[in-house]
Amino acid sequence: KYILGIETSCDETAVSIVKNGREVLSNVVASQIESHKRFGGVVPEIASRHHVEQITLVLEEAFNESGLDWDDIDAIAVTEGPGLVGALLIGVNAAKALAFAKGKPLVGVHHIAGHIYANRLEEEFQFPLLALIVSGGHTELVLMKEHGSYEVIGETRDDAAGEAYDKVARMLNLPYPGGPHIDRLAAEGDAVIDFPRAWLEEDSFDFSFSGLKSAVINKIHNAKQKGITFKQEDIAASFQASVIDVLATKTLKAAMQHNVKQVIVAGGVAANKGLRAELEAKFKETTIPLLIPPLRLCTDNAAMIAAAGTINYEQGKRSGMDLNANPSLLLR
Ligand code: ATP
Ligand code: FE
Ligand code: MG
Repeated sequence: KYILGIETSCDETAVSIVKNGREVLSNVVASQIESHKRFGGVVPEIASRHHVEQITLVLEEAFNESGLDWDDIDAIAVTEGPGLVGALLIGVNAAKALAFAKGKPLVGVHHIAGHIYANRLEEEFQFPLLALIVSGGHTELVLMKEHGSYEVIGETRDDAAGEAYDKVARMLNLPYPGGPHIDRLAAEGDAVIDFPRAWLEEDSFDFSFSGLKSAVINKIHNAKQKGITFKQEDIAASFQASVIDVLATKTLKAAMQHNVKQVIVAGGVAANKGLRAELEAKFKETTIPLLIPPLRLCTDNAAMIAAAGTINYEQGKRSGMDLNANPSLLLR
């Protein structure tokens, strides 16, 4: 089966063709980061306009790269949510128009299911499986007992991990998106500041990062008043140590408690070198295999949407011409 995937939920216009849910034939991503940088974050109106301008070109490029044509395509998968509504609509409307014009089945995909299925482009899933999703908008632990079934066993109660990275980066006057910059600085610094860890209730797999973010702001502010200056590298390292400690510890605990056969990591923060190293160290002590996707599959792309869409398609899930963008779509 050949599935065409379309992703426009945020600031990446992406189209990909995937064979049998696992083999990437093309994966074209037009990033808008440069256009949003000077605003320090994604501007929704600008994102929508870029998607409109880019989508046809990206689609054409995806076909060129794959060497296929429309006759080969079995279905069109598109991100229906969550994300920016105006951005999502460009992809959803393009997918609907193409499905109608080419007479292809249409399959709506949850963006986070996509991030999870990015891993299946590397290795086959083994169930039950635990997914740690850490991205710009999500921090979740998801238990999967079979393909296409998602049980959220923990989630953030306030900021997402990526969001916390971006906000702290802004305080340190680092360019957007800040995650990679903090990661780089952290490697050169020492975690000399003891920032709080939000463990929450004993049996909870939920997360919270807004307290940590405030603690970093206060620390910088108070230090300035007292005439103390911390090295940027040390602030980055201390902040990152707190984030990673909680993420890795809760992931390990959830994996043991649910007796999973595989742990996968998904989302943009999965690119974080410190997080990768800590998870690898922790899971090396267990018999549970840990899978972290290569960097190009961590951030938004359409191959992951085609991969998740393949499962929906195989399970007979179809969307109609009434498919709508849903910015707060739930994962289930
Ligand atoms: P969502 O998938 O929840 O809708 P999103 O699409 O914005 O959100 P992604 O594209 O998956 O999120 O990831 C982007 C986020 O990942 C940003 O917050 C960015 O700072 C963060 N990020 C990227 N690389 C790193 C890194 N090396 N360390 C920490 N964070 C990182
Ligand atoms: Fe994403
Ligand atoms: Mg993004």
